Amino acid sequence: KPVSEAHVFEADVARLLHMMVHSVYSDKDVFLRELISNAADACEKLRYEAIATPSLLGDDPDARILLKLDGDNRRIVIEDNGIGMSRDEMIEALGTIARSGTRAFMERIEANKAGEGAQLIGQFGVGFYSCFMVADQVEVASRRAGEEAAWLWSSDGKGSYSVSPLEASEAPTRGTRITLHLNEDAKTYVSRWTVERIVKQQSGHVPVPIRIVEKEGEEPQQITDGTALWTKSKSDVTPEEYTEFYRGVSGQYDDPALTVHFRAEGRHEYTTLAFVPTTAPFDLFDPDRKGRMKLYVKRVFITDDAELVPRYLRFVRGLVDTADLPLNISREMIQDSPILGAIRKGVTSRILTALEKQAESDAETYLKFWETFGSVLKEGLYDDFERKTQLLGLARFQTTAGDGFRSLADYLKDAKEEQKAIYYLAGSSLEQLKASPQLEGFRARGIEVLLLTDPIDNFWVMNAPEFEGKSFKSVSQGAADLAQFAKPEEKAEEKTPEAKAEVASLIALAKEKLKDEVSDVINSDRLTESAVCLVAPETGYDRQLEKLLQGAGQ
Ligand code: ADP
Ligand code: MG
Repeated sequence: KPVSEAHVFEADVARLLHMMVHSVYSDKDVFLRELISNAADACEKLRYEAIATPSLLGDDPDARILLKLDGDNRRIVIEDNGIGMSRDEMIEALGTIARSGTRAFMERIEANKAGEGAQLIGQFGVGFYSCFMVADQVEVASRRAGEEAAWLWSSDGKGSYSVSPLEASEAPTRGTRITLHLNEDAKTYVSRWTVERIVKQQSGHVPVPIRIVEKEGEEPQQITDGTALWTKSKSDVTPEEYTEFYRGVSGQYDDPALTVHFRAEGRHEYTTLAFVPTTAPFDLFDPDRKGRMKLYVKRVFITDDAELVPRYLRFVRGLVDTADLPLNISREMIQDSPILGAIRKGVTSRILTALEKQAESDAETYLKFWETFGSVLKEGLYDDFERKTQLLGLARFQTTAGDGFRSLADYLKDAKEEQKAIYYLAGSSLEQLKASPQLEGFRARGIEVLLLTDPIDNFWVMNAPEFEGKSFKSVSQGAADLAQFAKPEEKAEEKTPEAKAEVASLIALAKEKLKDEVSDVINSDRLTESAVCLVAPETGYDRQLEKLLQGAGQ
């Protein structure tokens, strides 16, 4: 008999498993969603590989997922006839953590023991390991499509696992069978009623039909039909169904803040179902983070690597399904396809339009969106020249006018009639900006100033277009344009010729003393209380950008 090999888990996996078992999660049900989503992924991978190699499907072409409940032995089995795993794939997939960002995940989970842990599992690509929340022994029997050999992976989740060859008669003909030996606390998962309820609620729109059976030999009963939700018409889908689908596709467990579902017809035909999450994914600012929209061709999953939305919409989750691309398009060719380019434009427009609508109809939700994702959307202000104006319209700012967020439309509505610029001050914190002497002259004249505190602000504002004919101008830069505005009450002594002469000699003295430190010393209207402040020259970098560039060693 061939021997079983013992392996130890990668250190991060061991740590993760320890946390899964020893932290108290409020929602253990998620393990079912995770295992079903893996089973469905495996079916979709097979469907994709079968486009090039139809023989992989053999005489069993229809994807299916089967749940077997075994109350006598306190077990639940999740079986699929998908792509399966070879021995090496098993060791890679079920013994390591593939995705970057694992460290961040661990730290967050540890910092927040009872709270969001279970919510984070799906996002981090560690869904499989969640089965150890409910099982003290797990067996994975698998045979890769088209291969003779089958393998058994087995572990108690305590640091090591074993892999051994499996007799043909004990292995699935194709695909994967996962057996969970449930622990005492998790015996509810052999109850048909419980499992059906959870599956319908969490996985009702997985695009592979799910069946359930209790007794060996009994006819399995179908509990979800595997219809793809996005192929339905909007009026036939409930908000709960959208939410559940969003959770399945994103691996996040919050509610979507915005749902965009439409079918484009005409030159290009495609369906999009896209969601804006409520909470930010952990890797939003990871430079490696790609868009997470899935591409389907005629309901066959092709890739989640196609850039279906621009980088500044990388928080959007969901999918595009099109009949316009050939099924056998290679993943490499997709990026350069002009059809995909057209689809990307169409989808981007729809999402931005939906955000505009939300900003109008539900300002409160929109503001939450802006606080979560605004700094990402602002990347579009220098990345997407065509949509700059639309993106400026979506932007919200903190300003000297109060504590709330304001749009540029709000700003211009309240601007002085003679005002030709949109004034801003950039810095690293709101408190620091509000205390800045640069603002004094503007405050005194009742001119609103945008307070920009995102590092990204410096980059777009330099090249910002005009917005409704007004350009952006930093209040820290050059003479402060203030002469054109009605001055506040002037103090009598400033007007006397003696005072003017005193100011002139003060400036001469300052220039003399500071001649190597500054390029000029001028009398300015910008201050009303402070005596002096540093400003950048009229042309060249703004003061905050100068600091940033110095910090970056430039
Ligand atoms: P993710 O699904 O995000 O990749 P998981 O931890 O859920 O992360 O699964 C890890 C990997 O294990 C999958 O990417 C896949 O390669 C493999 N896997 C898990 N379940 C199955 C299955 N039922 N069939 C084939 N491969 C599977
Ligand atoms: Mg998974």
